[in-house]
Amino acid sequence: MKKWLLILILLVPLSGVAKVAKVNEIEALLAKAHSMYKNEKAGANADYIPALAKVDSELFGIALVTNDGKMYTYGDVDSRFSIQSISKVFTLALALEAKGADQVASKIGVNATGLPFNSVAAIELNKARSVNPLVNAGAMATVSLLEGDKENKWQNLSHWYNEFANTELPVLKSIYQSESETNGHNLAIAELLKSYDRFYGDVKDNLDIYTRQCSIGVTVTDLAVMASPFANRGVHPITNKKLMSEENVERLLAVMTTAGLYETSGDWAFKVGLPAKSGVGGGIIAVAPERFSIAVFSPRLDQAGNSVRAQKAIDYIAEAMDANIF
Ligand code: GLN
Repeated sequence: MKKWLLILILLVPLSGVAKVAKVNEIEALLAKAHSMYKNEKAGANADYIPALAKVDSELFGIALVTNDGKMYTYGDVDSRFSIQSISKVFTLALALEAKGADQVASKIGVNATGLPFNSVAAIELNKARSVNPLVNAGAMATVSLLEGDKENKWQNLSHWYNEFANTELPVLKSIYQSESETNGHNLAIAELLKSYDRFYGDVKDNLDIYTRQCSIGVTVTDLAVMASPFANRGVHPITNKKLMSEENVERLLAVMTTAGLYETSGDWAFKVGLPAKSGVGGGIIAVAPERFSIAVFSPRLDQAGNSVRAQKAIDYIAEAMDANIF
C-alpha cells in the first residue's frame, strides 16, 4: 500500500474522534455552567413592565452556535420570552446596512452614555444630543431613522429579524400590551429627542414599532442563532446568507462593547471581554468573533437591568473557551 494512503486511513478516524470529543466538551461546558449557577437567586425580574414580573424567575437556558453552524443547548431552551433590548442590536444592524455607518454616527451617536438604559439625562447632558443606539433614546431614534411608513417599516424590520432567526418570530401580545400601557417614560424620551430635532419621524408611530420589536418572542436558541452572523463576518452560518458587510459587523460589535450592558459595559469588557447585549426580559447575547455566538436566558436582573445568571454563565463559558477578544 502507498505510504500516503496509509497515513490518510490512519488520520481520518482520528480527526473524527477529535471532533466528537470537542462536541462533548462544549455540551459538558454548558451543562456545567447551568449546574453552577442554577441556585443563584440574586436579582429580580423587571417589573416596570408588569407582564415581565409574571415570568417564572427560575427559567434558565443556554445556547451556543459555532461558526460551522453547529448548535449546543442546555436547560430551558424552549421557553419563549421577550427579546426586549437585545432587539436594539438587530435594528441597529438594519440601520447600518440601510442608511450607512456615517448617518448612524451623526444622526444618532455611538458613544457610550455610561448611564442607565432609560436615562433622560443622557440626552440633556450631551450638547449634541447624541445618544447611543443600544439605550432607549438612541434605539427609538434608530427606528425613526429607517425608511417607510409605519406598516412598511414594521414589515421590513420583522423580515430582517426573521432572516437572523431563520424562523418566523411572533410578537408576544401580553408583553406588547403591558408595555404599551406603561410607556410614558419612553414617550417622554422620544418627545425630548424630537424637540432637539434628533428624532426622525412621527413619535407615536415609531414608539409603537419600538415597543413591538421589544415584544418579539424568542427562545434562547433563537437568540444564539440570531447572533451567529455577528461572529461570522455577517454571513449566517446556518443559512449561508450574507446579511451584513464585514465593516458594519465591526461597528456593531464596537457599539455592543461600549454600551451593550449599559452602565456596567466597562466592567463586563474588563471581566469577560466579549461584545454583548442584554434585555430586561432576562436574555443576553455575546459574540466571540470568528468562533461562536452564545445566548443565555434567566429572568432575574441586577441593578443595571442585566440577567445575573446569564452574565455568570457567559463569563464562565467564555473563560473556559478562552474567548476574550482582548
Ligand atoms: N422595552 C424595554 C424598554 O423600553 C427595553 C429595555 C431593556 O431591555 N433594557 O424599557
